[in-house]
Amino acid sequence: GKIRVGILFGGQSTEHEISILSARNVLAALDRTRFEPLLIGIDKAGRWLLQDEQKLLACAADPRRVALGAGRPLDMPATLASADPDSNLSHRIDVIFPVLHGTFGEDGALQGLLEIAGIPYVGAGVLGSGIGMDKDVMKRLLRDAGIPVANFRTVRRPQFDADPRRVCEELATLGFPMFTKPANAGSSVGIRKVAQPTALAEAIRFAFEFDTKVIVEAAVSAREIELAVLGGNPATVTVAGEIVVDHPDGFYSYDAKYVDEHGARLDLPARISPDQQWEAQALALRTFEVLECDGMARVDLFLTSDGKLLVNEINTLPGFTAVSMYPKLWSLSGVPPTELITRLIELALQRSRARA
Ligand code: ATP
Ligand code: MG
Ligand code: MG
Ligand code: MG
Repeated sequence: GKIRVGILFGGQSTEHEISILSARNVLAALDRTRFEPLLIGIDKAGRWLLQDEQKLLACAADPRRVALGAGRPLDMPATLASADPDSNLSHRIDVIFPVLHGTFGEDGALQGLLEIAGIPYVGAGVLGSGIGMDKDVMKRLLRDAGIPVANFRTVRRPQFDADPRRVCEELATLGFPMFTKPANAGSSVGIRKVAQPTALAEAIRFAFEFDTKVIVEAAVSAREIELAVLGGNPATVTVAGEIVVDHPDGFYSYDAKYVDEHGARLDLPARISPDQQWEAQALALRTFEVLECDGMARVDLFLTSDGKLLVNEINTLPGFTAVSMYPKLWSLSGVPPTELITRLIELALQRSRARA
């Protein structure tokens, strides 16, 4: 019979809507001769709801216009138990594809639940997911491995609240402009580019609306380069793509990514020299390894005007939206979406067999 793939999407994070857009494309690319989807939408309260295929396929491409359907509620433990081959529950699941971004989907929490339930799943494991989700821990590990990253500092809520002015004065030594980010987020949610000292405290407070830990980074004046990695033995990497932002926010913000159609252009492949291409690929693979990744990841780099490459971040559950780099980069490198999804699922099944 066909392999039953549980596609989990939506979720409780700030990237709920983006996840729906990603899930739509994963479903559309799923090879139906081999796989049978079971669509599980997670609403903002964390409830699991069975979703309708046609409705998901027909959803809008604009994050402001998408929402989960009101599907039949699924009991989470029963759904997970249905992955047991002896179970006779109607919604048997062979493997889960968590098309979830952010908290509880990309951060290792769901991965831990699936490990304990013994269900194979696509993408990074518990540790790699946790590391990749936390920009503070991620950057410390990169720095420790000698991988160049932007200068950064970490601020925790109680420390900031105790004396915001002093914290801001200390942070100012990073130099302006700087970026303030929630440590755990994605899609640029909660991020601001801060041009001057007077705007810093407010930007940090804004980031604290999304997390209790915030990182503050010196702005790097550079081109933005992204590469896609596919796990396996050995892991493989695509050519680089470039993001050219043209938006009043002045960086690749949520609006530049998903709301304004002309907020950014993707150059595929990036117009960089063969040496830079090779160096970027080696750096992406090294980053994947240092950060304990598995399955897939998109690595975001900066290329400075004097040709230096820095790592900005890794994304262990990269977007699969219509404007997302991960599937586009693989298509460009000769792996179209259907084959990509198949490989990701095969990697998940191989990993669980290797452990058994
Ligand atoms: P996603 O996961 O969607 O790629 P994210 O929310 O994890 O995004 P980052 O990738 O860290 O956030 O940052 C978002 C964007 O902000 C970058 O693509 C870049 O345009 C800008 N940016 C972030 N940090 C810096 C920096 N130190 N210097 C210059 N630009 C930056
Ligand atoms: Mg990210
Ligand atoms: Mg992300
Ligand atoms: Mg990024």
